[in-house]
Order: sequence, then C-alpha cells, then structure tokens
Amino acid sequence: MQNDLNNRVFLLLGTNMGNRSANLLVAKELLEITAGKIIKESSIYETAAWGKTDQAHFLNQVIEIATSLAPHELLGAVLSTEEQIGRSREMKWGPRIIDIDILLYDEIIITSDSLTVPHPAMHLRKFTLVPLAEIAGDVEHPVFQKRISDLLRECNDSLQVVRLSL
Ligand code: ATP
Ligand code: CA
Ligand code: CA
Repeated sequence: MQNDLNNRVFLLLGTNMGNRSANLLVAKELLEITAGKIIKESSIYETAAWGKTDQAHFLNQVIEIATSLAPHELLGAVLSTEEQIGRSREMKWGPRIIDIDILLYDEIIITSDSLTVPHPAMHLRKFTLVPLAEIAGDVEHPVFQKRISDLLRECNDSLQVVRLSL
C-alpha cells in the first residue's frame, strides 16, 4: 500500500560547514517530513575530510528510516532536503553544509545514471562504515554479501573516525 512505511533505508549525513551539529538536526527534522520515519540513529562521529583533504573536518551520522518512497523518489526527497538546507554543488568533494547519501535500500541493487545503491564507495570509507556498523552491523551488503561489521574489519581506510556523542 502506498502509505505503508515498508522499506528500510540507511542514510549517511555529513556536514563540514557552519554549525555542524545544528545542520544534522535540521536535516533529520526535514527528512522526517520529506523522506520517512527515523527508526534509529548512530552516534555522531568526526572525521578529517576524505578525498579532498584541505578543508574542515566533517561530522557524520547514519540514520535508519522507514519509508514508503521508491528509491528514485527517495533520491528526489534527499536532494530537495539538501537544497532546502542550502547545499550548493560547486566543487566535487568540496565543503558542504549537508550531504545526504543513500547507503542501503532494503536488499535492492540499483545502477542507474542518477542513483547507485548500495552507495558505490561505502565499503571504502570508515566514516561511513563506523556509524553504519554501530546500528546495522549484522545487515548484509547485497552486492558483496558480507555483513557491515565484516566490511568494516576489512576496510583499509586510514582516516581516524572519532565518536563524539550519541
Ligand atoms: P560521493 O557520492 O562520492 O559521496 P558526493 O556525495 O559529494 O560524492 P554529490 O555531489 O552529493 O556527491 O552527489 C552527486 C549525485 O550522486 C547526486 O546528484 C545523485 O544523483 C547521485 N547519486 C548516485 N547514487 C547516490 C546515492 N546512493 N545517494 C545519493 N546520491 C547518489
Ligand atoms: Ca557523499
Ligand atoms: Ca551525496
């Protein structure tokens, strides 16, 4: 049924501009309106920037939501939520007030021009795997068919991920 919150999704929130904790809070408030119901939240973690390292450190948090939106509808909701918070895309991997990535959507595998799920880099990034493992360690990655906690153990990313608070 259209309104059933049947799908289980994990989102990664990231921010390295302005009041980072406030940005996470606003993102979660908006996502409850645009995307679905928040079921679980990881702690908040701080990590040095990945890829493009000459910028402020990031706060990251993973949330689990229950949603009735189909994957591409969810992507639309995520992108419009980023826009509402004031995200502009100027530089690849540059500073951002908020970034919201779809990590996992049920057991679904999608490869389209606008959407790849599971997120194609999630297994390479400790700042993603550490908070995800906190709330979804036993969930299986549908492509690698490995548990998230095992992907974390095997990940060679050397960036330190520091737990700040719940
Ligand atoms: P990365 O994906 O490496 O973390 P990024 O988050 O900085 O990089 P963005 O500029 O935020 O990249 O996103 C660019 C585009 O990625 C989005 O417009 C969206 O269409 C696409 N995209 C593909 N797969 C996903 C996904 N799983 N979650 C969010 N966006 C995705
Ligand atoms: Ca991202
Ligand atoms: Ca993104």
